[in-house]
Amino acid sequence: MHVYEMLSGSIASERLRCDEGLDRHSTYRVGGPADVMCLPRTRSELLDVVTAASVRGIPWLVVGNGSNILFSDDGFRGLVIKIRGAVPVEGTLWQLAQEGDFIRAGAGVSLPRLARSAAAAGLSGLEFCTGIPGVVGGSIRGNAGAHGSDLGAVVESVEMIRPSGDIVTIRASEAGFSYRESEIEPDSIVTGAVFRLTPDEPENVQERIRVFTEYRKRTQPSSDQSAGCMFKNPVGDSAGRLIDAAGCKGLQVGGSRVSEIHGNFVINLGGATASDALRLIDLVRERVFERTGVALELEVRVMKSGVV
Ligand SMILES: Cc1cc2nc3c(=O)[nH]c(=O)nc-3n(C[C@H](O)[C@H](O)[C@H](O)COP(=O)(O)OP(=O)(O)OC[C@H]3O[C@@H](n4cnc5c(N)ncnc54)[C@H](O)[C@@H]3O)c2cc1C
Repeated sequence: MHVYEMLSGSIASERLRCDEGLDRHSTYRVGGPADVMCLPRTRSELLDVVTAASVRGIPWLVVGNGSNILFSDDGFRGLVIKIRGAVPVEGTLWQLAQEGDFIRAGAGVSLPRLARSAAAAGLSGLEFCTGIPGVVGGSIRGNAGAHGSDLGAVVESVEMIRPSGDIVTIRASEAGFSYRESEIEPDSIVTGAVFRLTPDEPENVQERIRVFTEYRKRTQPSSDQSAGCMFKNPVGDSAGRLIDAAGCKGLQVGGSRVSEIHGNFVINLGGATASDALRLIDLVRERVFERTGVALELEVRVMKSGVV
């Protein structure tokens, strides 16, 4: 029986897509088909579909905006659960509400929207989220950050569905945030978070957003297809600087190329495959190691055997 038929009773059929190309759900625009993609709107729909998949032994994977993932060219044999919304709607996985100095956001809220809504409410702390094309769930998992801050610095609590099916809320200190990482188990699903912010004049918050946006435009290949920074910055250095020093800017494999604007961005020139990107990543790592002795660690999550 096809995975679609196995899951069709667990969620409204308009929320299920059969043989869905993952390239459409990745900012790097690569990836073969997933047997089924599910787009739940509410926490209970999410719980129903993940329970049905687990009971039937169907492998599943949760994604947000796919801006930190390199999907496999082979796609995914199982269920991909995508949690991302457009306009915030009460009661959905992309609800957004201010409560005094706190903002409560569903897993599917985009980080730029989160930053804008905090600014409008005169709350500071999320300005760095401007220009990060992820949503809250995926960004909490990877502790997204920029401009000297990260989500771990402003998260008060995280709500998630544990592998057991229990819905729990944990404090930030229990999430184990570190540089572009958290200790949230791979098979837990973040459903939302509360952010603790600092009151400030909305104009001051907007101004910082403006400065950060301009900085990005000047220093990153914002109009190219990419998955953001490929490698983590080694302690006390920058991966971009090392890649530049190793002469890798402009290096190309198939349709994947190391950006001339920022060496830590691998861009899709159009028609790239995940294999192109992976071969290029290996080449860059080798050259950087040969020239500088530094072993670069991936920031982007690579789908291998269905795991990211
Ligand atoms: C142009 C560009 C600029 C970028 N700039 C930055 C930057 O400045 N700083 C930065 O940190 N990153 C940056 N990124 C990378 C990326 O946007 C962030 O890492 C972002 O936080 C990923 O969020 P996402 O929703 O796209 O997650 P995805 O890529 O969809 O998923 C990332 C990981 O989280 C898991 N996941 C997704 N949703 C959930 C959930 N609800 N519960 C549990 N796990 C989940 C996935 O399985 C995967 O392992 C950039 C990317 C691009 C393309």
